[in-house]
Amino acid sequence: MKKRILVTGGAGFVGSHLCRRLLNEGNEVICLDNFFTGNKENIIDLLPHPYFELIRHDVQKPILLEVDEIYNLACPASPPHYQFDPVATTRTSVLGAINMLDLAKKCKAKILQASTSEVYGDPEVHPQPESYRGSVSTTGIRACYDEGKRCAETLFFDYHRQYGVKIKVIRIFNTYGSYMNPNDGRVVSNFIVQALRNEDITMYGDGTQTRSFQYVDDLVEGMIRLMSSRDDFTGPVNIGNPGEFTMLELARKVIELTGSASQITFKPLPQDDPLQRQPDITLAKQELHWEPTINLDEGLKKTIQYFKGIING
Ligand code: NAD
Ligand code: UDP
Repeated sequence: MKKRILVTGGAGFVGSHLCRRLLNEGNEVICLDNFFTGNKENIIDLLPHPYFELIRHDVQKPILLEVDEIYNLACPASPPHYQFDPVATTRTSVLGAINMLDLAKKCKAKILQASTSEVYGDPEVHPQPESYRGSVSTTGIRACYDEGKRCAETLFFDYHRQYGVKIKVIRIFNTYGSYMNPNDGRVVSNFIVQALRNEDITMYGDGTQTRSFQYVDDLVEGMIRLMSSRDDFTGPVNIGNPGEFTMLELARKVIELTGSASQITFKPLPQDDPLQRQPDITLAKQELHWEPTINLDEGLKKTIQYFKGIING
């Protein structure tokens, strides 16, 4: 059955993939974005589609629409972008959640929140299961994002308990792929762009910190499975690839796969940068029958192809 689906942050990296997939599955898609980090280029191929609509709007303000489902992705996700205007970041997470939850309540829509592994902060439990409550600074430079996302989770569960809104909360671990902004500032896009330009690879800290990277197609599959899961399964559920790599390993892989002449240069580690990150995906396997299918080498090759196209074009 054709559904009318709202994707906030739909012109961003993950949102553009999600809009494309939902349209291809025969749905009507409304993409809402204020273009803070998103880009019309990411969805330009979708604009002529008769079942695609684009709305320029800021989720900090309420909006009235008739929809069946809402994917709430609107929020800058890379540290340089969410730290650029930290007050706006918290407002986007918190007021955005309230406005989208009010909309879901009004039109009885099901709503999914794009939460994050950042709710675990710099984790003392490894790998991180959903039951781990996290180790987050409330005052550091990452707090605007981490605490904003934590408060959004709280609002989702309170709207569910208080008003019966049908909610889904997904905790996304580091994701990469095509349609990342080359100036995004996240590690995968930075390293690939630097390698393709034969510029120095900027390693923050000594490069022994770890992350677990998932390819964007795996994430989108997880989001769609969660949205269509049984009503009494709300999450939060981790969606990420358990393959864990140090940033030095990542840099070496990128240099090898691009055949680059780049050298690694070391820069100070930003404040509160988590030392390690790996999802425990037992719950996603059990409830969604989901697990990642694309390993880091395969995903990096696809992403390098994409960046070659935009850097040379
Ligand atoms: P992105 O920056 O590419 O996309 C975010 C989109 O939201 C952009 O199009 C931006 O213009 C839009 N936006 C920002 N503030 C807005 C506002 N106030 N009103 C309307 N639109 C607004 O980031 P992404 O990687 O695509 O992330 C999408 C979502 O997934 C975010 O909520 C992010 O927190 C979450 N997430 C992503 C990752 C990841 O690794 N990519 C990891 C964890 C969580
Ligand atoms: N990082 C790095 N060089 C860069 C960008 C990031 O070494 O050019 C490091 C960063 O300090 C962190 C890791 O890579 O330890 C992942 O950073 P990213 O911003 O992609 O994601 P997050 O820290 O939010 O997980």
